Parts: sequence; C-alpha cells; structure tokens
Amino acid sequence: MSRRDAQRSIPAVHRFLSDDRIGAYEPVLGHGNLKSTIVAVLDRARTDGVELSYHHLSAEVIHSLASAAAETLNTVINATGILLHTNFGRAPISRQAWDEAAKLATGYSNLEYDLLTGGRGSRYSRLSAILREVAGAEDGIVVNNCAAAVLLILDTFAKGREVVVARNQLIEIGGGFRLPEVFERAGARLVEVGATNKVYLRDYERALTPRTALLFRSHLSNFAMSGFTHDVAPAQLVSLARRAGIPVVEDLGSGALVDFERFGLPHERTVQEAIGDGVGLVAFSGDKLLGGPQAGIIVGKRALLSRLRENAFIRALRVDKVTLALLGQTLSRYRSSQTMLEVPLFSMLNASLDELRARAERYVAAIPSSRSMPSNAYLGGGSLPQATLASVAVALPDADGAVARALRTAEPPIVGRLESGSLLLDLRTIAPRDDRLVIAALAARV
Ligand SMILES: *Cc1c(COP(=O)(O)O)cnc(C)c1O
Repeated sequence: MSRRDAQRSIPAVHRFLSDDRIGAYEPVLGHGNLKSTIVAVLDRARTDGVELSYHHLSAEVIHSLASAAAETLNTVINATGILLHTNFGRAPISRQAWDEAAKLATGYSNLEYDLLTGGRGSRYSRLSAILREVAGAEDGIVVNNCAAAVLLILDTFAKGREVVVARNQLIEIGGGFRLPEVFERAGARLVEVGATNKVYLRDYERALTPRTALLFRSHLSNFAMSGFTHDVAPAQLVSLARRAGIPVVEDLGSGALVDFERFGLPHERTVQEAIGDGVGLVAFSGDKLLGGPQAGIIVGKRALLSRLRENAFIRALRVDKVTLALLGQTLSRYRSSQTMLEVPLFSMLNASLDELRARAERYVAAIPSSRSMPSNAYLGGGSLPQATLASVAVALPDADGAVARALRTAEPPIVGRLESGSLLLDLRTIAPRDDRLVIAALAARV
C-alpha cells in the first residue's frame, strides 16, 4: 500500500468514539481527553504511514486510555459495605471539617508563628491542645501516617538498643509494612518473647537487659487470635516497664477515640484506655477509626514527646497545613455527639436498619429487577477484622459480572460486591445524597 492509500484508509475519529470499549473511559477521562487521545494516535499513524487497521489502532487507543485512567484520581461510589476501604481512600472527610479547614488552608495561618511573642512557633505543637482534650493525654504530635509515627518513635528511642515485643504482635499491615523489618530498618534490635499464642508477664521480665529501650505493644490490626491464647494486660506491662525505668509504646493502628460498642460493634481498645493504662506513647492513624485525613498521631507523656520533637528526622515526616487543619477540625467534632455525626464514618455507623430499608425501597421501586436484602457491612482498614455490622443491600442479578462491570464504568463509577450470582450494593457506605445518582445509573444500565 502506498503512503497515500494508507492515509485514505485511516478510520474516522467518530468510529473510535462510538466503540463501547473506548466509550467506557469517558466517565473517567472526559470526552475531550478521549478525543485528543484518538487524534494523537491517528496523527502518529499518519506520520509513520504503517499498519492502519482499525483493530490495531483501536488497541493502541485503548492502551493509551488505560494508562491515563490508571493515573487519574476519581470519585467512586463505594457500595461494597466496607466503611474504611484502603482502595477507596479509607475514611471520607467531614464536609463541615473540610469547609472550616478550607478557610485556614486557602489563606495564611499561624502554622509556625507564635502570636503571643511574635516569634517563631512550632507546627509540631499545633494540635496539642485538642489532642490533650479529646484523647486525655499530656501532649500530642502529628506526622505523616502511623507507619511514620512508629519509625520516628523507634529512631528516637531504640536505635542500637533492644525492643521487647510479643511474638504474635509482629504483624504485617498492608503495603508490605512488616514490624520486624521496620525494627531492623530503624536500627533497633528486636527481642521476641512468648509463644505464638501465649505471652506472660514473666516472658517480658526475663527479656529485660540494660540495653532494653522500650516494651512495644502492637494492635493485631487485620487478624485475630482465638482459642488457647494469653496476653499481658497493658497496665501490668506498664508497671514492669516503670520498675525498669523504660517506657511502654503502643501502636494502636486504627486509633478509636470513642467506644465503638455504642454502634453495636465489639469493644475496641481506645486511645484513652491506653493513656489510662499509663502507656508512654500511643501511635495511631488519622484516617481509620478516627474518621479524618491521613495522618499519624502520637499522644502520651510530655517528656517523651519532647524527645520526639527534638529528633531531626521529624522534619522528613511532617504534615502540611491542610492535614493539620483537617485533622484539627475533625477532632473538634468529637466535642459533642451531635457534631460527631458530621464525620461520615459515624453517620454511616449510626444509620438505622429502618433508614437503610426505606432507602432500599426507593431503589427497588425504580429498578424492577432489583430486590432489597439484609447484608453485612465491615469496618475494614485493618480495624475490628471480625466485626460485622447489620446492613441492607440492593441486589441485582449479575451471573457473569456484566452489571458490575457496567457500573464500574458509570459516571461516577459505582463499586459493589458480587455474591453468588448477584451484585450487592450495600446502602451503609453509599451516602444518602448519592442515592438519586446511583438509581439513575442503575436505570440506565440494568
Ligand atoms: C494501619 C496500621 C498501621 C499503619 O497506619 P498508617 O496510618 O496506614 O501508616 C500501623 N500499625 C497498625 C497496628 C495498623 O493497624
């Protein structure tokens, strides 16, 4: 084929645009991007003057669109019933907290300025007051995430020294963050005590040496132990540590600041309980059970926190004003049970089954092939791994997963969960304000 003939045979842009495989990217990337990607591929084909079959060119367009889509952050409707889904950004942030934080972040603030002296202030003290108030601790600081908090603590206190940890607490959390390797990277020598299922106070006692820097406790996070097990009460660990003149550090991970029993969930150890037990430093995440932005929070004894603030490494782990503002605003919602419900995690947990059923009825009335059914929601995010929360789902027949696929490419994408030939959309994680949108998407595709 001559170059001229090749040019003539180039398929038209509209043929690509009407291809369903390509159209599926429109909700994610927008019409303009779809068109410019197609034009770019065709231009390249024209310059090269080679292989111009629609089959070949459309594959190239799809390849480009798929890479662009993978690099784009988009709104997703989480209908999985998993409240803190790491794949979907964990905790949604409170709208009210966001609006208040926007005022701080879009202007100037006293981030590192002391308004009383007119001199330099410390960003590492900015949330101390609210953390003292909400968590009942002497002091608190905020770093990038809980993983960073653990690293900072180990780097400050345990470099070249020994840290005693119960064998069953040497967990791996998501993203390959494994405690034993973190200890190694921080230059701390790990001293494992106990058997896999049982650890006693005497195990810790025997492991103490003059080189022991800390007794370390970790939340089991994403797994649970049952059966023939034994753990040491944290308060006992604290009195042992006190006698040895060293602190206990607890990585709580999920970081509950309220008792989750009030939502019908099993008891989850709270930050306040850890502080009450006398734990020296408690580390936890901002975007798990706290319901705020990604952050790592360390609360505890003032003298220990001062040591953390003096570690030059803290500079590399610091958070920006946006995180501080969002976290501060989220924490201030804990002041009353009314404002707490402005945190999406708590409004989702607080929704009654009657409310969820009533919403499901509206779906069923609009979508004849759907039905309402009981469902189980989960907290997710490495917290309360075994706890289920009674919920309500709208079920759609979907033997081959075609409906699930169609909804994933809706605008905005809707992700449910497939269970024995049905697609379940759990209403607990769908914001009520999104119901109309989801119903419209279903009406167009089912
Ligand atoms: C989730 C978790 C972490 C890590 O928290 P990030 O904020 O995601 O860094 C650390 N330790 C425990 C026990 C956890 O559950």
